[in-house]
Amino acid sequence: MTSGSATEQQWARIRGRMRQIVGEGAYKSWLKPLTLLGVVEGEVRISVPTRFMRDWVSAHYLDQLRRLWQEENDAVHTVEVTVVTPRESAASGEGAPAEARPVSEAMPNLNGDLAAYGAPLDPRFTFEDFVVGKPNELAHAAAQKVAEATTVSFNPLFLYGGVGLGKTHLMHAIAWHIRRRHPTRKVLYLSAEKFMYQFIRALRFKHVMDFKEMFRSVDVLMIDDVQFISGKENTQEEFFHTFNALVDQNRQVVVSADKSPSDLEGMEERLRSRLGWGLVADIHPTTYELRLGILEAKAEQHSYDIPRKVMEFLAHRITSNIRELEGSLNRLVAHAELVGRPINLETAQDLLRDLIRANDRRITIDQIKRQVAEHFKVRLSDMASARRARAVARPRQVAMYLAKRLTTRSLPEIGSKFGGRDHTTVMHAVKKVEELCSLDPAFNEEVELLKRMLEN
Ligand code: ADP
Ligand code: MG
Repeated sequence: MTSGSATEQQWARIRGRMRQIVGEGAYKSWLKPLTLLGVVEGEVRISVPTRFMRDWVSAHYLDQLRRLWQEENDAVHTVEVTVVTPRESAASGEGAPAEARPVSEAMPNLNGDLAAYGAPLDPRFTFEDFVVGKPNELAHAAAQKVAEATTVSFNPLFLYGGVGLGKTHLMHAIAWHIRRRHPTRKVLYLSAEKFMYQFIRALRFKHVMDFKEMFRSVDVLMIDDVQFISGKENTQEEFFHTFNALVDQNRQVVVSADKSPSDLEGMEERLRSRLGWGLVADIHPTTYELRLGILEAKAEQHSYDIPRKVMEFLAHRITSNIRELEGSLNRLVAHAELVGRPINLETAQDLLRDLIRANDRRITIDQIKRQVAEHFKVRLSDMASARRARAVARPRQVAMYLAKRLTTRSLPEIGSKFGGRDHTTVMHAVKKVEELCSLDPAFNEEVELLKRMLEN
């Protein structure tokens, strides 16, 4: 072992750098207690006093430590963290500090090992802060049921839906709820990505038994974004076994994904089918009402002073997902605070130009053609055909009207997408549909419905 003064000096510099990078608090808790044992053939050996610290440091700081070591010494290829308990180190004279086991503040009521495997919970993601609407009511009800249940009624609860629609929020809400009501129950929440990472590390550092034990000891296991392990066979295999072990012991499992179980490509058939055995609840794209409700809730919660018109404008135009909707609201509020003036419609349009454009772009003319053809039960090709029969001409006009209303394309551009029609034809279609809408409430409703489906 070369633990001469050069190595000691390198270690001192690395510790100094880490202190700058992670800040005083984290440094004191996690890095100060590390003891350098030495460097052997490019392998840096570091000891920590507890297993918990080893896992935490490995999960959070190992890459950084390795990088800093490599900057100091390019012979270094690995950094290995091992547990040397204070008694052992006293006996061997290594002198590891006997610090008390640190407890992360973000993880109350949990023993340290569990905290090291899980991911922290966002304090804002509670049931109280979740706005319920048609698109998410089933998922919300199912999540609440799981949170309040004393016995397992469906296993797993499988939540799925597009990005930014509230899957993670609901999972954290379950965890917070259980933690508050039953502090002794072990709830473990983590992403599928982190699950895989932990598993790979367990294999590499030969603590697979610890890994298995840990995951099989929880009362509620929640794995977020399970689509991440698509195509990752070994991780799927391990997850499948963990999953079955928990279900066999009547423990609750909650899983989220961006697709339904049957649509998860790259997922082993038995896992896919197993994931669909419990309750599968999807979160639909947002509606105007839900978006407005969320904006109102957030504004009230933070006592933001936002004119109603501005909120309606946001709810109309930021349709992609709730994350972007929140982002737009925050941007407006930040601006208002900065300039010391409340937001009006004009500044909102101005400040959110890029977001709105991105949201508008999401609706394409092809999408409109498809949706309209499907709705009126005509062939997609008839959207561009020369047929003039009312049965196809009317739907075509509706589609042109929607293309004008929902996209930023010009009349000639729209005409060209409908079989090379002239811009005056498109204009005529727009007028015709407007007229019909004002005369016929049923038709109006139909067009509104199509519009809403496309906007979502
Ligand atoms: P996902 O995991 O489905 O991608 P998230 O749960 O991360 O989405 O939600 C994105 C953001 O939108 C979060 O800030 C979350 O709090 C918020 N959000 C989502 N759904 C709702 C809702 N129904 N009520 C209030 N906020 C919500
Ligand atoms: Mg998520």
